[in-house]
Amino acid sequence: MTNSEFTPVFDRNTRHTAADRNRLGAEPLLPETAYQLVHDAALLDGNARLNLATFVSTWMDNDADRLYAETFDKNMIDKDEYPSTAAVEEHCWKILANLWSAPNIDAAIGTSTTGSSEACMLGGLAFKRLWQHRRRAEGKDTSKPNLVMSSAVQVCWEKFCNYWDVEMRLVPISEDHKVLDGHDLENYVDENTIGVVAIMGVTYTGMYEPVREIAAKLDEIQQKTGLDIPIHVDGASGAMIAPFLQPDLEWDFRLERVHSISTSGHKYGGVYPGVGWVVWREEKWLPEDLVFRVSYLGGDMPTFALNFSRPGSQVLLQYYMFLRLGFAGYTEMQQGAQDVAVFLAQQISKLGPFQLWNDGTDIPVFAWSMIPNYTDKWDLYHLADRLRTRGWIVPAYPMPADLQDLTVQRIVVRRDLSLDMAEKFFADFKAEVAYLKALDAPMPTAPDHPGFHH
Ligand SMILES: *Cc1c(COP(=O)(O)O)cnc(C)c1O
Repeated sequence: MTNSEFTPVFDRNTRHTAADRNRLGAEPLLPETAYQLVHDAALLDGNARLNLATFVSTWMDNDADRLYAETFDKNMIDKDEYPSTAAVEEHCWKILANLWSAPNIDAAIGTSTTGSSEACMLGGLAFKRLWQHRRRAEGKDTSKPNLVMSSAVQVCWEKFCNYWDVEMRLVPISEDHKVLDGHDLENYVDENTIGVVAIMGVTYTGMYEPVREIAAKLDEIQQKTGLDIPIHVDGASGAMIAPFLQPDLEWDFRLERVHSISTSGHKYGGVYPGVGWVVWREEKWLPEDLVFRVSYLGGDMPTFALNFSRPGSQVLLQYYMFLRLGFAGYTEMQQGAQDVAVFLAQQISKLGPFQLWNDGTDIPVFAWSMIPNYTDKWDLYHLADRLRTRGWIVPAYPMPADLQDLTVQRIVVRRDLSLDMAEKFFADFKAEVAYLKALDAPMPTAPDHPGFHH
């Protein structure tokens, strides 16, 4: 029984043109047949450029594509075989250390990762290990570490706490405290707190958490209790926006309490999926016993990573982006995305049924909800479905704990959503809202719509 077949369109006489989906075929296919099968399977995916849900790059320029094709065989871990790629990795994290105001980039330390998730795990592990060292030296219990963060953290922090047995202490967000802002923090931290996570660009809404205020609150707590609690900034998106669009905002290594910062190179860094970064302000914040030196690939370059082999080409692409754009180019690119976000937020808020949660002036991301009791005929899930019929992906989802009754819809503006495309999107959006507003009976209840996190 075969279930992937091309005949007659791609029929190739005397050779197999069919394959079983879930079992290895007994015989080979011609490469062009296998290509066409996989190509056609990928065709059925959504159109990435119309996906306004994801933060992750869906476009790079031709030179980047060429570079990618030339370097896709490089293995990042093999620093002895590819010493030049390893050197480029170091250039990149030093560029970031500098961009994030490290007082001395030669005293800093950093690494590339597969994305922010791995970068956050490494930041969390450094916190946990440092705390363990300190507690052991003091002869104290190390069995109950906790990490404090907002209830609107990205799922990677839940993973970190789950995988490494750290208690997750969530500070709930509310209408009054839309982000973690230091309010009430004294009720969440104690001697077992390994650190506090501050998010630059909350995934749910795109808002910045005020890292300076969080740090000030922790200073106050230290004065009262002696507890010296470090901050990791999860700057998955914002760490590549704030240095360019909000240069006066103090969220980075200008604050001494910020030990480490992570970002996704594949979000506003502008690289295709597969690269993230984490940098520690000073080498002493990355405990030496987490760093490995392996000799079996030759050499003994130190590494701190969850993976072993992984592609090196995205790291080269990151360097390409840094060289290609420079400070002025990144500023222009991020400003362009922000202009589109602010334009769309204003247009959507003027339509009537919606109220903005935020306006796209932090990172180029904004969310809105329905005006309470506006209608019982449709909701944001229906609107998301209607937009999907036109190819646009704009997810609706519930807010996190304590606000879970509030449904929001969110748009992430990436650099490849031009103002021209945004205007076309808004025309479709307006037409679908008009369709829903004209309903004279309620839409059927939408099937279960799971939350959507990227
Ligand atoms: C996207 C995101 C992550 C996870 O990043 P990946 O690069 O996809 O692993 C973590 N934190 C925040 C705030 C994010 O927006």
